[in-house]
Amino acid sequence: MKKSNIKILHVLIGMILAASLFSCTPKPELRALIVTGQNNHNVTNSTAAIISILDKAEIFTVFIETSPGQGRDMSGFIVDFTPFDVVVLNYTGDAWPEETRNNFVSYVENGGGVVVVHAANNAFPDWKEYNEIIGLGGWGDRDENSGPYVYVKDGEIIRDNSAGRGGNHGPQHEYVIEAFQPEHPIMKGLPAKWLHTKDELYQELRGPAKNMEILATTFAAEEFNGTGRDEPALFTISYGNGRIFHTILGHAGGEDLFFPAMECAGFITTLQRGAEWAATGKVSQRVPEEFPDETKSVRWKYFEPMDIGIISEKIKEYEIGKSTSCFIALKDFIAENSSNEVTIDEYHDMILTILSSGSASKEGKKVLLKEFSWMATEAYRSVYEKLISDEDIKNEALFALEILEY
Ligand code: ZN
Repeated sequence: MKKSNIKILHVLIGMILAASLFSCTPKPELRALIVTGQNNHNVTNSTAAIISILDKAEIFTVFIETSPGQGRDMSGFIVDFTPFDVVVLNYTGDAWPEETRNNFVSYVENGGGVVVVHAANNAFPDWKEYNEIIGLGGWGDRDENSGPYVYVKDGEIIRDNSAGRGGNHGPQHEYVIEAFQPEHPIMKGLPAKWLHTKDELYQELRGPAKNMEILATTFAAEEFNGTGRDEPALFTISYGNGRIFHTILGHAGGEDLFFPAMECAGFITTLQRGAEWAATGKVSQRVPEEFPDETKSVRWKYFEPMDIGIISEKIKEYEIGKSTSCFIALKDFIAENSSNEVTIDEYHDMILTILSSGSASKEGKKVLLKEFSWMATEAYRSVYEKLISDEDIKNEALFALEILEY
């Protein structure tokens, strides 16, 4: 595959997918942008999980912006945030270009909503405005210069300026989330205490913590190497006119296919509500009937993990209105593996097999022809030419052939 094509992919395909794929399905109201591409967690499947979670709320149209992979040229990663009501951050990695950083800060200053998910608070320790926006962060050599530790003791919020590292967690375990601001729109109607599924408990986060409101805490028990404090688990920040919802929950391990932390009914519900609140300042969603209590966690299978086999099956069955996460995962896998010819060849084989298959869905083929023809090689030509004889996908096949000529 040509290098120049890969670059075009990085810059364009997220936008193309967002613009054409998602517009197939009439969806309402709020435009949510997930920013992803690099993370010290399973970036593809955690993004797929967030897409599913937002989709299920039925109030968001979800768009994705995927950065180049770690260590690659970031200069083309220019993001305009202005079209969106809420930006969900599932990113930690290389610095964004200055233009994108400036765009992000002015988007928030001007009233944009932001959701910070788990390790997004590991990102950009040296970017002052970002740390003000997220309130608290961890790792990346954060220390007392980053801001105070913030926790709750005897019902009082403590801002602790003592020296020490920022960011820590012990072994994963289930832990209780306890409401601190039960009347906040995100929290209203949720049980005062509920048991979260097995997850990392982020603690000793530090940051400017300006204009921060703690919505819920969790006790970091010493038996799990905890601080023995009530640590902020869900909180909000205001920055300029912008609203930020920050959840420490949602660990997605690198090689794991299932993430109990992201399947927790409490994580899902607070993410959906937090995203709506960040976008609008209100929450219209009802609290689900099935919800964890203090002693029993609840897991929902809201998303399916992706690998090449699953992606292939999903594309073969794709119809308009179904989840598009298989195409997004395929795009992400291709971007992540752009320098690995063996893996890229596997994706070529998969795409060619689907396009040649008599039983694969025509809608799935159409998306492959429209959105993935940029990566086609000469091996695709005969397959494209055969598809021209099918009236239903003739136009898309001609389009793909044209790209091949180009
Ligand atoms: Zn984690």
